[in-house]
Order: sequence, then C-alpha cells, then structure tokens
Amino acid sequence: MGKEKILIFISSFIFTCSLAISQTTAIICGKLIDGSGDTPLINRVIVIKNGKILAVTTRSKIPAKAEIIDLSDYSILPGLIDAHVHPLIATDDYQVDHLRRSSADKALQGLKVVQDLLNAGWTTLRIAGDADVFYAHLAIRDAINDVCGKR
Ligand SMILES: [Zn+2]
Repeated sequence: MGKEKILIFISSFIFTCSLAISQTTAIICGKLIDGSGDTPLINRVIVIKNGKILAVTTRSKIPAKAEIIDLSDYSILPGLIDAHVHPLIATDDYQVDHLRRSSADKALQGLKVVQDLLNAGWTTLRIAGDADVFYAHLAIRDAINDVCGKR
C-alpha cells in the first residue's frame, strides 16, 4: 500500500466511542479490505446502525438520513486481534519486573501500552499471563470499558 493512507476499521472501539449508537452511519471507503478475497473492494460503503454493521454496499444504497463519514481517500480494514500481549511487563526480566513494580505502576504503564496498540489498529487484545496480585490487567480493561463502553 506504500504511501497510501490506511485507516484501521476499528469495529468495536470507534463505533462505541464516537458514533451515535441510535443512528445510521454510512462510512464511504476508498478501498475496503474485508479479508474475503485477494484484492480490496473499491468504493464501498459500510452501513452501521445501533453499533452494528448492517451492510457493505454502494453509494447508491446509502440510507436517506444516514450520517456520512467520507473516507474515500483511505483504505479500511477490520480491527486487528493480538491473542498474546504482555502490557504489564516493562523489561525482559519479567519475573523481577513483577516483583519490583507496584500494581498501580503496572496498570498505568500497561494502559499506555494498550492505548498505543489500539491507536495502531489492534482492537482485540488477550493479555497472556501478566499476573498481578491486585489485578492490574483487569483495571486496564475496566478503564477502557469506562471510557469507551463495553463491546
Ligand atoms: Zn508471552
């Protein structure tokens, strides 16, 4: 894709954070990478209502009162999933790291790591074994849910 603009289609994060839940929204995509084929779909429209994708269609089928988000200069793709991340670990010596750092520090530093991943297009993360006796990883999850709402 080179210098072409790429926008990650953050299915849960953007929709629950920035789009009105009760209205219909149409996102006009320059290119849509939906994972179903070898080439992106061109000039498609994603229609969203109540936070869920209703259809992928064309401009001629945009609902009449839909809010339109024109991303026709961008490529859109589904949010990325990482099933093995360690946002609470700050060094390679993770066993010592867990003992020396407070749960609050791990939660705050981990939240920064998770926010950076979300901003880079990762929309689903599985924290793999970052044990913390005071549940810092759950504090991160709860902080995100409080700001953006649950999926
Ligand atoms: Zn690991």
